[in-house]
Amino acid sequence: VRAAQPQRSVATVLYSKQFKQLARRQQQQRRNLSIGPGHYKQRLVILGSGWGGYGLLRGIDKRRWDVTVISPNTYFNFTPLLASTAVGTLEFRTAIEPVRRYAPDIRYYQAWCDEVDFKNKVLTCMPATRPTNSSATHSGEYTRCDLQKPFSISYDKLVIAVGAYSQTFNVPGVKEHAHFLKDVKDARRIRSRILECFEQASQPFLSDLERRNLLHFCIVGGGPTGVEFAAELHDLLHTDIARHYDKSIVRLAKITMYDVAPNILGMFDANLRKYTEKTLSREGIKILTSHHVDKVEPGKLHVREQGEVPFGMLVWSTGLAPNPLVQSLTDTKKDPKTSSIITNDHLNLIMSNGEPNPDVWTIGDAARIDTAPLPATAQVASQKAKYLVRKLNKLANDEEHKAPFEFHNQGSLAYIGNWKAIYDRSGGNEKDDRFMSKETGRVAWLLWRSAYFTMTLSWRNKILVPTYWFLNWIFGRDITRF
Ligand code: FAD
Repeated sequence: VRAAQPQRSVATVLYSKQFKQLARRQQQQRRNLSIGPGHYKQRLVILGSGWGGYGLLRGIDKRRWDVTVISPNTYFNFTPLLASTAVGTLEFRTAIEPVRRYAPDIRYYQAWCDEVDFKNKVLTCMPATRPTNSSATHSGEYTRCDLQKPFSISYDKLVIAVGAYSQTFNVPGVKEHAHFLKDVKDARRIRSRILECFEQASQPFLSDLERRNLLHFCIVGGGPTGVEFAAELHDLLHTDIARHYDKSIVRLAKITMYDVAPNILGMFDANLRKYTEKTLSREGIKILTSHHVDKVEPGKLHVREQGEVPFGMLVWSTGLAPNPLVQSLTDTKKDPKTSSIITNDHLNLIMSNGEPNPDVWTIGDAARIDTAPLPATAQVASQKAKYLVRKLNKLANDEEHKAPFEFHNQGSLAYIGNWKAIYDRSGGNEKDDRFMSKETGRVAWLLWRSAYFTMTLSWRNKILVPTYWFLNWIFGRDITRF
């Protein structure tokens, strides 16, 4: 009897643990449905898990709102660190945050929103999960078709934060033969291709010309993304690649940056642009401004001013194109130049009749305020998200929020290689310009690193990011190709 007693008590403990878990789950579900007798939570649907959508998700009061997130990405991309992950200065995990971190306080569907019916407040979505074939399912109950069925979601309030796509200007062959750098998956493909080029070029039977072509890395677009990628690639070539590959091969590697504009980094101050061009050229990066790429074929570019230019890898970064969902919205006011959705200064979407929609807000790269066009940056998207957090949390408490959105320019930063960066805050308003307004070199590089370390969202990444910076500084980048 005595021997059986401890077993009984273990069973009792397990039972009571299960019971507590069940009670907690039920409590959670009750909390998800209502916040008090007769007071139901309103349904807030957030489209997108980028700087806008994820920023809102982090701050929104989940006890007061019934939150649903719809995004094809199960994670948030910390875009300023993507160029670093594409060459191994940082690992991929350091640049993402999972959306499900906030579940079960929120609902999440890995899906695309394809249609918005503003009148009936209904969204039509399509799963973004890969269709599983029927043999992989348990009972044959689900077929490939069932798993890809569109579904509808109703909302009380909607936030559209679907961002934008990469602009190709319809140049033939870009989508098929170039790499983009928008997502951590793109960064992974780029990293793999760089290392593949070096392995291919190391084969014994290749001529020097073939090697030179394979090791020609082209970047089209001289904006901050193109420049930062070129700088990170230069660092990789001059450190870890130079250390581990044959010198006769490494000396053939070349980076060329093309832009149709007469200057790179158009949004930066003229002196900072000159400094960057000089620094990059001194490091051996060829900058070809006022050059037009007319066509891309496998392994070669057609440049109007040069003719055929062979390459091993091409990264295309020439700005933003509208998201197809944004393009499909016909009853909203759009910016004629960028096709982004026009909002008022409370970020409410403006319908085509000129009236703001009180239940729909649009933030991030998909939106533009009618009175004050702002750049399409993470800084703007995240400030708009914070503004909406305040507004919606007040709304949930039946309080008024009258203040319009105001942007505070914290300046622009770009890494330009070899532990140097540029910092520009000259375009800000006087209130924001108390601190330094322009900086270059190591000081700017320190600012760059501290800014992105501070902006890193989770404690996990606040530990991982400096750890990888330190480890790679001591031991070098990981140049394994999977
Ligand atoms: P995104 O962050 O692009 O997020 C859009 C989200 O919507 C994604 O989760 C996407 O999957 C989802 N989505 C798309 N279509 C649908 C749909 N139909 N239904 C549902 N969800 C959908 N800005 C800076 O300020 N500083 C920087 O240093 C900087 N560096 C950058 C580096 C790179 C490599 C890149 C690409 C951008 C950089 N930016 C930077 C710009 C910045 O990342 C963007 O301005 C910012 O991501 C915009 O935020 P967003 O929420 O509008 O869009």
